[in-house]
Amino acid sequence: MPRSNARGLPSLGRCRLSHPTDRRRCAVGAERRCVLTCPVGGMARTAGPIISPPDGLSGLPAYIRKGQELRLEGPGGILSDLGNMRGIAKTCCSAPSVRDPRAQRAVRSSSDPTPPARRAVVVNAFTVDLEDWAHGLLGGETPITSRVLGNVERMLALLERYGVKATFFALGKVCEKFPELLPRVAAGGHEIASHGYGHDLVYNMTPESFREDVRRSVGIIGEQTGAAPIGYRAPAFSITRQSLWAGPILAELGFKYSSSIFPIRGSRYGIADAPVFPFNWDDWLTARKAGVCGAAGQPEARSPKPGLIEFPMTTLAFAGRRWPVCGGGYLRLLPARFLKAAVRQAHRQGQPAVVYMHPYELDVSEVCELERAGWRFGRQTALTQSLFRCFIKRRLADIFRTFKFAPMREVLGVSELRR
Ligand SMILES: [Zn+2]
Repeated sequence: MPRSNARGLPSLGRCRLSHPTDRRRCAVGAERRCVLTCPVGGMARTAGPIISPPDGLSGLPAYIRKGQELRLEGPGGILSDLGNMRGIAKTCCSAPSVRDPRAQRAVRSSSDPTPPARRAVVVNAFTVDLEDWAHGLLGGETPITSRVLGNVERMLALLERYGVKATFFALGKVCEKFPELLPRVAAGGHEIASHGYGHDLVYNMTPESFREDVRRSVGIIGEQTGAAPIGYRAPAFSITRQSLWAGPILAELGFKYSSSIFPIRGSRYGIADAPVFPFNWDDWLTARKAGVCGAAGQPEARSPKPGLIEFPMTTLAFAGRRWPVCGGGYLRLLPARFLKAAVRQAHRQGQPAVVYMHPYELDVSEVCELERAGWRFGRQTALTQSLFRCFIKRRLADIFRTFKFAPMREVLGVSELRR
């Protein structure tokens, strides 16, 4: 039977959370209606429809302002997902200066309230940047090789073998040259999203040329699949501080989500203080303008609302830094345990992770064969780009057996939204 908390709101005893410094204000509960308030502000994902604020999005991780009430309706509300509830507990209880021993016990118990067997499974996004290696590397007028066809087939076969549905961020120029590719991918039940047209880096483009590049890719995808994409990924994660204008343009073009930001300090890409979990672009830009950012890089005072969602690349927090480990060359060069650790870190906060790959990572002999055919890439490039490709299939199989994956639109809960 649900009990009442100090505010008179119904709550489930086992699922009740309390904040060590103010037990009355951080209760999560209810079977049909519940109210979440958080005394320190933090991120929460809701499974039930949000009643107020009225523009809240169900299923989307949202920032709850300090002291803000989030009213939910539906069986279980946010309690239907214990993994997410642990995330809330952790956020709520991470306030500084917890000295009371009773409060410290409350922190320990609320950070892991559920036995492992009863934990909810968090579904992650598996994504594939559909492009040709040589063209992606050299860009411009470099010819797109037909190896991309065989490589996509290899990727599709692997996904089918492990029952994984993915999101393919397709490059317009590749699909234009090989119009048979997208129908083949779509027939496998995968989501088709946009990777732009020519693989030009966003921060090297003007807002006008970016808009044109994306529009062109949308046209090709729409023509070949009969549906416009709702997701976008920038080539080489090139939405950085210099190209933040790209987000509003994507929203204006009708996209529902982007997965283009690497929340790291990198030389070619990355925004070191970007949130590490899915967030709303409007909220984030407003917070940046106001200079509001938490210690972990999360905007402190956010409320959920419709608009472009960003699913940033998953990173591993270690030794005070964020490390890129969740796909591409990182998965090729590092053991899979780093990726697994990053995914589990996200799950401990009730958040999904995103893993990305390219079809060419499965093409073990590509670099050697292209060099034999007269292509020249430079010694270091050839080595770093081909090293350990032979391990990728085994590593992906291991990851597919360990975690659950779905297309990004499903993980973000935007499947039902149409452009
Ligand atoms: Zn790319």
